Amino acid sequence: MTHVAFLGLGAIGTPMARHLAAPEFTLAVWNRTASKAEAFGAEFGSRVATSPADAAKGAAVVITCLPTSKEVETLLDGPDGLLVTMARGTVLVDCTSGDPASSQRIAKRLHDHGIGFLDAPVSGGVAGAEIGTLTVMVGGDAGLLERVMPVIDAFGEKIIHCGPIGAGHAVKAVNQALLSLHIWGLGEGLLALSKAGVAPQVALDVINGSSGRSNVSQNLFTQRVVGRAFPRTFRLALMDKDIKIAAQLLREQGVPSPLLQMMTELTSAAHRALGEEADHVEMVKYIEQIAGSEIV
Ligand code: NDP
Repeated sequence: MTHVAFLGLGAIGTPMARHLAAPEFTLAVWNRTASKAEAFGAEFGSRVATSPADAAKGAAVVITCLPTSKEVETLLDGPDGLLVTMARGTVLVDCTSGDPASSQRIAKRLHDHGIGFLDAPVSGGVAGAEIGTLTVMVGGDAGLLERVMPVIDAFGEKIIHCGPIGAGHAVKAVNQALLSLHIWGLGEGLLALSKAGVAPQVALDVINGSSGRSNVSQNLFTQRVVGRAFPRTFRLALMDKDIKIAAQLLREQGVPSPLLQMMTELTSAAHRALGEEADHVEMVKYIEQIAGSEIV
């Protein structure tokens, strides 16, 4: 049995951690708001840790799933920090959609303590996490990934080694930039079609059978925009953070990126207008606000 600690029972962390509450693992969970960890422990019989250090006690693999790399970095230090109890030879698998530079810094610090690090952000949404079909993009040592594969495999379906430390976060950021672009582009397009007298479901039927289709058109818009139901599964605030990481990556690599830089500004404007708790698909409401009409 592999001892695993899971830190961060948010919208995606919770369904991911559920797959580790299985006979092959012994699981300890920690969450900043303790009530969520207590509820998880009561439902799945996992050990409820009182601090990051307590969670990591005896764990071979520690998984973090927090908003940004900043929160992950903060959990390392202090009397309750991970570095107090994580032993040499153990591995931190960071499933946060973080940024490459922070991951490289975190990996270096852990390396000095004999601890391995992989950045392993996920894609597939809450629905994919629930059924254990997430795509996991991994940066770091390939041998280390082999070692922790049974743990990642519990919640991941497509697990891809992308390159050195930070590569997983870089790929994830570009993916998220594309997500934002698709939402904005389809939002504008459907709004114009709606004004021209084409119902959104009709437009989506055509697009989904044509070359402009995407996950956004096939799933997100069909489920949420047509029915005007916007469940919160992935906060717009987090997508705003992701696209900024992508924009930074493109700047650092010296790639001219007028489209992505503009999309970063639009995503941030939508985030400011709709607030911290809005779902990412609600960005469509911001497009509607600017246009002064709705997709109907
Ligand atoms: P949520 O906002 O739902 O949850 C965030 C989690 O981080 C909570 O457990 C929260 O604790 C914890 N947290 C926040 N701030 C701190 C802090 N300062 N110290 C310790 N813990 C903290 O986010 P998600 O679960 O949606 O996302 C987590 C990561 O996964 C993000 O990087 C996101 O971009 C990524 N992701 C999310 C997807 C989704 O569909 N939701 C899909 C793919 C990736 P508390 O309960 O106390 O608030």
